Amino acid sequence: MPLAAMGEITGPARDAGRGVGAFNVIGVEHAEAIVTGAEAVRAPVVLQISENCAAYHGALDPIARACLAIAAAAAVPVAVHLDHASSADLVRAAAGIGLGSVMFDASARPYADNVRATAEMTRWCRDRGVWVEAELGEIGGKNGVHSPLARTDPDEAAGYVAATGVDALAVAVGSSHAMLTRDAVLDLALVGRLRRAVGVPLVLHGSSGVPDEVLAAAVRAGMTKINVATQLNKVYTAAVRDYLAAEPAVVDPRRYGSAGRDAIAPEVARLLGVIGAAAAGVAGGGAGESLPPVERAARAAGHGGPAPGGGRGQGAERVRGHHPP
Ligand SMILES: [Zn+2]
Repeated sequence: MPLAAMGEITGPARDAGRGVGAFNVIGVEHAEAIVTGAEAVRAPVVLQISENCAAYHGALDPIARACLAIAAAAAVPVAVHLDHASSADLVRAAAGIGLGSVMFDASARPYADNVRATAEMTRWCRDRGVWVEAELGEIGGKNGVHSPLARTDPDEAAGYVAATGVDALAVAVGSSHAMLTRDAVLDLALVGRLRRAVGVPLVLHGSSGVPDEVLAAAVRAGMTKINVATQLNKVYTAAVRDYLAAEPAVVDPRRYGSAGRDAIAPEVARLLGVIGAAAAGVAGGGAGESLPPVERAARAAGHGGPAPGGGRGQGAERVRGHHPP
């Protein structure tokens, strides 16, 4: 299936009141597992690469091209998105590599400066067919400096979208980045007011800290793109840690890398079910339709039977046991 445009995924989802799962990639194993999880429930999905992730790899190009290749080979629609770019140069680099979607984050700047910089960036992107997400209200937790008490004002949000021309808006409604506990309290009434005030999809950042039932309620209240990073890192690292504890003599990174990757896929499938994305369905979906989602994801991750959609070559170093389903 060819790479999907972000607007083709988020537009119908917003109209139908479904969530769209947008998961942060760290390494190529994350990207493989996220797509496997999405294929298992036949839901569209977003692979996103943050500015910090590009910095970790030393450049955007290698990880972005890997994600584009994985997206192009997927059995479900996959968009590849640049997340939290404060650098206009990085946005231009992303467009040059072929990413059709970016988040330009000027939220730390004063309002007028945020509007000016975002409007300029959005014009540049629009000319090249690139979808733009921006942020208003400084969602907490980034670099540990912002408050989870930040809130986006609906009237200001409407004015911001009109003034900048952005395609989607990240809003502050109580979530916070990098939370290790899932007990964030969201202002669902504010989500509803923002949904009515703003004509573009709303984006929830810091979703890892939000309990399942509140994530589902946030989608029902009007959130569309649900960004998840920390939750996948938690399950990945726990599985790697468990594997290494059980197999202290192992040296081949494919052994524990497989354990981490195999833990991510079912968690992605589960979260896509929570936010209603799995209900989207994808024409010509893969095998195993009669199985429950987590079972399909487990199969897709290699715990039995071939992966739907052909898989992504995850069988070379199959790991058995010692990691969560
Ligand atoms: Zn974020």
